[in-house]
Amino acid sequence: MTLIQLVTSQTQKMKASPIREFLRYSQQPDILSLAGGLPDERYMPPYPTLDSVEASQQYGSSEGEILLRQQISDIATERGVLGSVNQVLVTNGSQQALDLISRTVLNDESIILTEQPTYLAAIQAFELQGAQIKEVPSDAFGMDINALRDALDVHKPKAVYLIPNFQNPAGHCYSDQRRKDIAALLDEKDVLLIEDDPYRDLCYDNVDLTPICSYLKSAPWAYMGSFSKVLWPGLRVGYVVASEELIPYLVKIKQVTDLHTNRLAQCIISKYLASGKYPQHIEILQDTYRKKRDVMAQTMATYLTDIVDYSVPAGGMFFWLRLPKNVSSNRVCREALAQKVLVLPGGAFFANPSESDDAYLRLSFSRVSEDDLRHAVRILAGVIKKMMDY
Ligand code: PMP
Repeated sequence: MTLIQLVTSQTQKMKASPIREFLRYSQQPDILSLAGGLPDERYMPPYPTLDSVEASQQYGSSEGEILLRQQISDIATERGVLGSVNQVLVTNGSQQALDLISRTVLNDESIILTEQPTYLAAIQAFELQGAQIKEVPSDAFGMDINALRDALDVHKPKAVYLIPNFQNPAGHCYSDQRRKDIAALLDEKDVLLIEDDPYRDLCYDNVDLTPICSYLKSAPWAYMGSFSKVLWPGLRVGYVVASEELIPYLVKIKQVTDLHTNRLAQCIISKYLASGKYPQHIEILQDTYRKKRDVMAQTMATYLTDIVDYSVPAGGMFFWLRLPKNVSSNRVCREALAQKVLVLPGGAFFANPSESDDAYLRLSFSRVSEDDLRHAVRILAGVIKKMMDY
């Protein structure tokens, strides 16, 4: 048996991340990176001090620390997600929540609907289970409701995966009406909603953020959140709040995967939330990132209006650009990299890639300074214009 025969067909088929090739460069000190969806560490608060009792050294429960689960249940309730503490599972980042829910409901006979484009690591989690992904187009207000209805009828999917707030990578935010329409449709068809909401606290404009699952009357749902984008991603603490009947299955898989989330990490998050500092911290983040978003928007307007298609995101970390016809995003990325600016080609965010996907770029504005953002956009504009001339 060759080594490759040892690897399951699902794992072999997993979409290798073409982004990795680019992300390697983001570690280099001379590279200005707008590539990763990383928070700015200059605005991460110090860890709270823990007593030895809190920093538990013993094994813990698979569901998570009870105090943190209560705090998450309060946060979720405030957002409109109706889940009691028993419906909260603390996970190793929301990425693990995605994996747990995928393993609970998907196999190689399943179809799942996603936005087009969508979060790359969600594509990977679904494909690892052998599921087929069908992408549904969106307009400025979210997933197109007629296209969703058609896709539900044609594909009979197990689930629909949505990132309604400041999506990764496209930056969109769903309208209030679209949220309600989608919920009504999922209730009608009785299809599971997997709602991923890690960016919601990074909100810079006055937009509606009501979770779609809060409008559901009968369809099953799983709502995922994270402390990665707003506190410390290195701690790896996220969560899923889900329909009661799903929880025992998620917990069983959590046990198999890692028994429970790191207790020290959970204690740190819990103590920070209890300190009462979180709301003010969020305001600081919102002010800081709003300024960066505005600098990015102004520089894009100066150098790239009429050349690329984009809209200004109301929150989150990303601008999503559509390049002019015949300009390849992969070539733009390589050329920009030669000039020490790193941005990501958009192709990897499409589950079923086609040639036209080579027209997109994702730019993250969260981690670099305002001056560096101006510089990076100027370089990028020069690269794009040069390629248009060929
Ligand atoms: N969902 C989305 C849409 C994301 O962008 C990310 C992080 N890039 C995650 C989930 C996972 O985040 P974490 O595991 O750090 O909570």
